[in-house]
Amino acid sequence: MMKNIKYSENNSSSIPYGRQWIDEDDIQAVVDVLRSDWITTGPKVAEFEQALADFVGAKETIAVSSGTAALHAAMYAIGIGPGDEVILPPMTFAATANAVVFQGGTPVFADVDPETLLIDPAQVEGKISPCTKAIIAVDYAGQPCDYDALRSIADKHNLFLVADACHSLGAIYKEKNVGTLADLTIFSFHPVKHITTGEGGIIITEDTHLAKKIRNFRNHGIEEDHNQRVLNDTWHYEIQDIGYNYRITDFQCALGISQLKKLPKWIARRQAIAKTYDYSFSEHPIIQPLHLKSFVLHSYHLYVVCLNLGKLKVDRGVVFKALRKMGIGVNVHYIPVYLHPFYRSTFSIDPGLCPIAERIYQRILSLPIFPHMSEKECQMVIESINKVSKKYYR
Ligand SMILES: *Cc1c(COP(=O)(O)O)cnc(C)c1O
Repeated sequence: MMKNIKYSENNSSSIPYGRQWIDEDDIQAVVDVLRSDWITTGPKVAEFEQALADFVGAKETIAVSSGTAALHAAMYAIGIGPGDEVILPPMTFAATANAVVFQGGTPVFADVDPETLLIDPAQVEGKISPCTKAIIAVDYAGQPCDYDALRSIADKHNLFLVADACHSLGAIYKEKNVGTLADLTIFSFHPVKHITTGEGGIIITEDTHLAKKIRNFRNHGIEEDHNQRVLNDTWHYEIQDIGYNYRITDFQCALGISQLKKLPKWIARRQAIAKTYDYSFSEHPIIQPLHLKSFVLHSYHLYVVCLNLGKLKVDRGVVFKALRKMGIGVNVHYIPVYLHPFYRSTFSIDPGLCPIAERIYQRILSLPIFPHMSEKECQMVIESINKVSKKYYR
């Protein structure tokens, strides 16, 4: 817990940009499972899957070992392979694009809207080719993408629409829950995300056929699950296609079930912190929050601001270091994915591919936001930013 935190110049105990919240209920839930007969592929996995299906209002949920595994399973299920192109934004964690590459597919980067950093549907249309098979929408920071526009593009060109919703658990788009807006939706349960299972992820869909493929993929490609084999009194199983071991344990799922109960309260807290930041930075000479659309409920995995570099004597790097030195765990989400050497060399990409993302990347900072963050910590972030802004103002 965070009781004894001191803020020192040496950065040893700064306010992080994100952090899990584990309490005694969570610990007890995990310990109970550790004392039971099933510690993996047991009843808690199905219970967690059902709890998430109920929360989102979706039919099929398949829990796996990470958000990355969930993305990989999604790319497998929709049949991505060599020669296939998948359109996605560069402003995401590399795992979104990596999952396309795992299957031998080609990631095609479409630029973002400068006000929200969400994939721009007009840019998506411009990137469609005869090889395009899917679009991956990334709900950057926790704000849902323009799903109406993306859906109509996907339908028009007969593409799958996949949502990397690792930032947006609990978010809403035009009265529809994230998790019901794409053909397949992915969440992550890494400790910085809205709820945690340590490591973990889930795929959500209405399509029972895709769900079945993903269940097999999670377990080496084995056709029948072990429960069915026990019921049918048989050892026989078949591997019809190659799969991985992407299973999640029962004690992780017990943690997830316990965490999920607190999610609505935690989202409300994230929104309250965001409101405090919004208020402090409205009309700020240096700090500009991202645009919030009126018809969404943002679930604030991240709180991202853009620096007005024209009014600063220094670049983002200097501001970043100054804030870190003051104990504020700012971060940068993200380096545009295709600028990483692997993507540049493998797909012959040069800088300039998505000029909006590259330009805004120079200006962004993620400020601390997590449910356990106190009002005092929030004020400390704001004061530190004001101090740094004043120091480097020109
Ligand atoms: C966290 C995250 C992932 C990967 O999830 P892991 O559980 O860490 O594997 C993928 N995409 C985005 C946008 C993320 O934020």
